[in-house]
Amino acid sequence: MRKIEHIGIAVNDLAVSNQLFEKLFGQPPYKQEEVASEGVKTSFFMNGPNKIELLEATNTDSPIAKFLEKKGEGIHHIAFDVENIVAEIERLQKEGFVVLNETPKKGADNKLVSFLHPKGTNGVLIELCQEIP
Ligand code: ZN
Repeated sequence: MRKIEHIGIAVNDLAVSNQLFEKLFGQPPYKQEEVASEGVKTSFFMNGPNKIELLEATNTDSPIAKFLEKKGEGIHHIAFDVENIVAEIERLQKEGFVVLNETPKKGADNKLVSFLHPKGTNGVLIELCQEIP
């Protein structure tokens, strides 16, 4: 794993939170994207070298809807940039981590992504992401 790629924050209302984070960072999101397969609408902010992803659920089966119901708004996941996601999944499985999707899937912001179950990572959902060339 290389650097933190972004931090994901679950929000109830993306439009409201977009305004809030625009005020916080002094600039609007550089990208907004819906990932229908995940049931989420996302927006991305850059602040210096750091990226923040806001996530709103688009249906009640969305993992974000379930998270919000259980925990309310807040940090949902930390994403790490990896060079080779397939090799990294294999390495982490050998180390005993539970990988939620063994086959990487297409996530937001032009990435292949995979998640580690938070039960094996002290309650923190970890996302691996590899830029699609
Ligand atoms: Zn993410």
